[in-house]
Amino acid sequence: MKPVLPGGTVGVLGSGQLGRMFAIAARRMGYRVHTYSPDYDTPTGQVADLEVASPYEDLDAVRKFAKKVDVVTFEFENVPAAAVEAAAQVAPVRPGGAVLQTTQHRLREKTFLSQKGFPVTSFAEVLSLADLEKALGRIGYPAVLKASTMSYDGKAQSRIDRPDEAAAAWKAVEGREAILEGFVRFEKEASVVVARSDDGRLADFGLIENTHDRHILDYSVASGCPDTPLEREAVRLAAAVAEALELVGVVCVELFVTGDGRLLVNELAPRPHNSGHLTVDACVTSQFEQQLRAVCGLPLGSTRYLQAAAMANLLGDLWDKGEPDWRAACAFPDVKLHLYGKSEPRPRRKMGHLTALAELPHQALSRALAARASLSRGSGL
Ligand code: AMP
Repeated sequence: MKPVLPGGTVGVLGSGQLGRMFAIAARRMGYRVHTYSPDYDTPTGQVADLEVASPYEDLDAVRKFAKKVDVVTFEFENVPAAAVEAAAQVAPVRPGGAVLQTTQHRLREKTFLSQKGFPVTSFAEVLSLADLEKALGRIGYPAVLKASTMSYDGKAQSRIDRPDEAAAAWKAVEGREAILEGFVRFEKEASVVVARSDDGRLADFGLIENTHDRHILDYSVASGCPDTPLEREAVRLAAAVAEALELVGVVCVELFVTGDGRLLVNELAPRPHNSGHLTVDACVTSQFEQQLRAVCGLPLGSTRYLQAAAMANLLGDLWDKGEPDWRAACAFPDVKLHLYGKSEPRPRRKMGHLTALAELPHQALSRALAARASLSRGSGL
């Protein structure tokens, strides 16, 4: 594919906050951005040059959208395969449909990883309660049952501790294809975001440590100095995953770190990731600019950290007692506020995030958390 240079137009399938931050990076570099999703006045649409609101099933509309852009990428990997194929008939799609096929289905993804020799927890396909009981006999307890598709942020997932919990877990996946996984007693969770260009060059953002609350990312911390053996191994793994996928774009490899220092791959996201949001303020090149560079065929930028960084998510629950006190968070001079332009602050909905930079990672984290706490407490300013 010929490089798409500044002045060109990039099409984004999906219209959430990932597309918004991608569009901001792209427009800063002189690109035009079109976005396609079923919704209007979306986080991406608010900053894009053109917002198309149409169902993914309307393949003529998808083709029409793709005709007006130089390259198509996505910010949401659950775009139906048929829509991606329709776009690919008229424009290059990066990453390609095969990457989506693998990563939008948990069983296919884990099978791909284990066949390529990447470390994953034990797993089995589950299509019925009888399969589940058989799989539990092999994998043991505790285990986690997850629907194979559309089960992000803990949705359609249950932990099974005892045989008598199997039926309820099966009911919770509502008869969909599912995967049973051995429960990992991890010490911590981490991720590596890595970009791969069309000529196979790689650039990673090092190891980012993640803490979840009720299955949703709560905060992330990056030390900014990639020097522990664990970090080197995590980066090696993530780079190998990007190679194995033959990816052109950005992938986030989510990892479990066990007590004895082993790494297991939990899941892949073939796009920028919530844990990489801190790269916007902390790195020379953000994960979004890197996605843009990769899909447009430009050289990748430096991923060097300016300082250690921490990111704290702002979920809709923060609005429980009315509008958060933005002035209070802005009173922290090293903290950056990002809001996604969503008008309805539903509980657990990702509305924005805060990023703090500091000399040391724990200092960055305490600043980000203090700024977040001030949002509901008020600064008294
Ligand atoms: P996922 O949607 O697969 O990323 O899962 C969301 C969160 O659930 C993860 O970040 C973990 O905290 C937890 N989790 C998922 N799978 C497992 C597992 N096999 N063992 C232990 N915890 C898990």
